[in-house]
Amino acid sequence: MIKLVAATQNAHKLVEFRRILEPLGYRVLSQAEADVDIDVEETGTTFAENASLKAEAIFRAAGLPTIADDSGLEVDYLGGEPGIYSARFGGPGLTDRDKCTLILQRLRDVPKDKRTARFVSAIHLILSETDRRTYIGTCEGFIGWEMLGDNGFGYDPIFMVSDTDSFAALSGEEKDQLSHRGAALRKMEEDLKGI
Ligand code: IMP
Repeated sequence: MIKLVAATQNAHKLVEFRRILEPLGYRVLSQAEADVDIDVEETGTTFAENASLKAEAIFRAAGLPTIADDSGLEVDYLGGEPGIYSARFGGPGLTDRDKCTLILQRLRDVPKDKRTARFVSAIHLILSETDRRTYIGTCEGFIGWEMLGDNGFGYDPIFMVSDTDSFAALSGEEKDQLSHRGAALRKMEEDLKGI
């Protein structure tokens, strides 16, 4: 069994890491369980760069194999915004629902064929000082016209994967089957088979 520290302060990401990786035989430790209290500044210009910054800092502090996710929503009509700034979109102090509202407002009169969007997840895994790996997962969808569903987090209520379902309307396991994070972690699992 591989024990991994999850380099995140986001409780929702921790839940998803565990939900996806524990059935595959990984043990996922929170930063608190690894006794690491660090909030890493995301100064990179890509998802992959930010994931690597987070993993590197926590690996240094914990001295254990570490996994980090940097992720976000790219809305085509907004030129790819909020992208790597998804967590900070709209300025400090906004709730997830405020951020969803902001995107819905910006797309108010935009027709369906121009509402395309995708979630992107970059996973950076550090197994040892000499073994670092990156996996990218994406999930295509479109921005809905209102918030839908009570599950998930972040932009899940406005991210439609069909005409009737947003990510927030799916169960956790259903989301994992389709999600950017699920896709990236399945690539990781495939890559690590047999090591
Ligand atoms: P970061 O990777 O910590 O910079 O934050 C990523 C941000 O993107 C989160 O705070 C959410 O707003 C958004 N995000 C990433 N993945 C998801 C997801 O699976 N559902 C909804 N929002 C997400």
